[in-house]
Amino acid sequence: MAALVLGVGAGLLWPEGSRLPAGIHPYAVFDFVGTLFLRALKMVIVPLLAGSIISGVAGVGASRGLGRLFSKTFAWYVTTSLVAIVVGLLLVNLIQPGISGGQAVGTRMGLAEAAPDLAAKIEGHGAGDIVMILQRMIPSNPVEAAAKGQMLPLIFFCLLLGIAITGLPERQKAAQLGFWESLFAAMMRITGWVIATAPIGIFGLMAKTTAGSGFAAFAPLARYGLTVLAALLFHAAVVLPLLLRFAGRVSPLRHARVMAPVLLTAFSTRSSSATLPLTMETIENRAGVSNRVTSFVLPLGATVNMDGTALYECVAAMFIAQAYGVQLSFGAQLVVVFTALLASIGAAGIPAAGLVMISVILEAVGLPLEGLALILAIDPVLDMCRTAVNVWSDSCGAVFVARSEGETEILT
Ligand code: ASP
Repeated sequence: MAALVLGVGAGLLWPEGSRLPAGIHPYAVFDFVGTLFLRALKMVIVPLLAGSIISGVAGVGASRGLGRLFSKTFAWYVTTSLVAIVVGLLLVNLIQPGISGGQAVGTRMGLAEAAPDLAAKIEGHGAGDIVMILQRMIPSNPVEAAAKGQMLPLIFFCLLLGIAITGLPERQKAAQLGFWESLFAAMMRITGWVIATAPIGIFGLMAKTTAGSGFAAFAPLARYGLTVLAALLFHAAVVLPLLLRFAGRVSPLRHARVMAPVLLTAFSTRSSSATLPLTMETIENRAGVSNRVTSFVLPLGATVNMDGTALYECVAAMFIAQAYGVQLSFGAQLVVVFTALLASIGAAGIPAAGLVMISVILEAVGLPLEGLALILAIDPVLDMCRTAVNVWSDSCGAVFVARSEGETEILT
């Protein structure tokens, strides 16, 4: 927050074109710092995603009898994430935070003018693209997909590899699992370092934006943030409780009371994975869900089931499209929904993972990755809220699955 305020101050003090002694252009300095940060974020995407998915899937194991549990869990994950995305999509279309007074807000917020043929290229996207995306999800060369930053084929291959590892003989499985788990751990550390420099990056990006366009940049950013928050609130306080009440037949209020400390932890750590031990402990000991269900649903959920992230991905991508002045057709919005779901599955449960994953959607729809710069400044606040929603959905899923397995001790 301090960096944000300082950045705005610096931008107002030295608007674009101003010059310091020794011929220093502050605008160029802001730009340099902001770009460094963006590049560092992009740097971690591929290895973080690979480590997270492969170790997540392979670590769950493939013991028998898990099939039914798996289908129920999976049904919960996909249904709730899709509903979350649709809630976000409806609100972002209604509020249109990326358009102000009939004008796209991108250039005012410091984006470079989009290539003139961008709109035409993207408007051509339609439902037929989903068929194309499905086809391209199978990489003809996984290494090439990784090198070119093609996320969907990469996610597909990593899921497959994770599943294959679960079936290997013990010795080979241990070697593979150990490798991917430690790669993931190392990438989390690097991501942590990058995120630690976020104040500097945010300072640079905010200063650059304000230097370029003054205060005009803020109204759309605030409206975008409020859109995300309103959609998150609706999903967490209306949709999930209704599901819990009618599909799970438990009291959402009682569940919320038990979960309150966990949700606060998720909010303040901005990490589903860091919160996981507490989530498991609470669901097992205080909500009364069996260990069998807890230890299956929650660890998988922490990396795979992210309703808050899915919703946020969709709103953010739509906002960026609006800011570039691109009207997405119904078909292209379907592509956004579909890729937002995959991006939320691929996102690791660590701070700002969702932000990194927006590149998946931007790439799929054909929007420039630079659009990320628009939403960086308020990402930490949104990250807190979406992480709490992610964990809330995992916990509701655990209760739902336990109930459907006939458990009777829940929240009594
Ligand atoms: N921080 C989120 C989580 O750990 C992921 C995200 O960035 O959306 O659940």
